Amino acid sequence: MSVPRFWLKQYRDELASLLAVAFSPRLSLSRLSLHPLLYSTCIGLAISTISVILLWIGFHPTVYELPVLSPKISLVPSPLPRRPPPRFPPGTHLPRIPETRASGPLDLPTFCPEYDLVRFDDPRVWWESDHDSSDNEDDHLMHRNLVPPLKRLIELVEKYGGHLEVQDAYRPSGVHSPRSLHKEGRAVDLTCRGLSLEDLARFAYAAGFDWVYYESGGRGGDHVHCSVRR
Ligand SMILES: [Zn+2]
Repeated sequence: MSVPRFWLKQYRDELASLLAVAFSPRLSLSRLSLHPLLYSTCIGLAISTISVILLWIGFHPTVYELPVLSPKISLVPSPLPRRPPPRFPPGTHLPRIPETRASGPLDLPTFCPEYDLVRFDDPRVWWESDHDSSDNEDDHLMHRNLVPPLKRLIELVEKYGGHLEVQDAYRPSGVHSPRSLHKEGRAVDLTCRGLSLEDLARFAYAAGFDWVYYESGGRGGDHVHCSVRR
């Protein structure tokens, strides 16, 4: 007898024996529940049900709705460090603690430019120093910890139709306050074309900068200042 025929006969015999038990006038629940064919059928049904439930859950992606500020912005993909805040008014910062607590204070004696600073470039960004030859400032120089959130922000701004502008990054001396994190390259000043500064600030916070400040009305003009921890 060939193998398929043998298995078919086995299955037919098992089924017949199960039916005989099920329709027997002396039906015993314990005998019925212990029958191997009934066992395998129940286990199969249970696995199928669980699979269908898992598939149903899996087909609902984890995206969340944002309050729409600009018509271009309605959904943001979830792999971001934070949920964008619904509002980010001018003159406010997030988190609502001083920058020295969120990003840590300036500590020039332990700052090592050769190790801490990296040169970062991205053709999707407009860099102020590339268009200003009046000084030797280089906005591509920044602390290495600034790069990951900046990369996420570049992606977000591009996705929603904006064009990011880096106005200032590492500044060892000059326009900033004596305690400014720009002196360690841990701060960056940003503006944007195609998106409002409020949306830029919301996205910067979602992208993972440790402190984001929507500076407005100051000498340096309206911009979004972002900084990071060491
Ligand atoms: Zn700044």
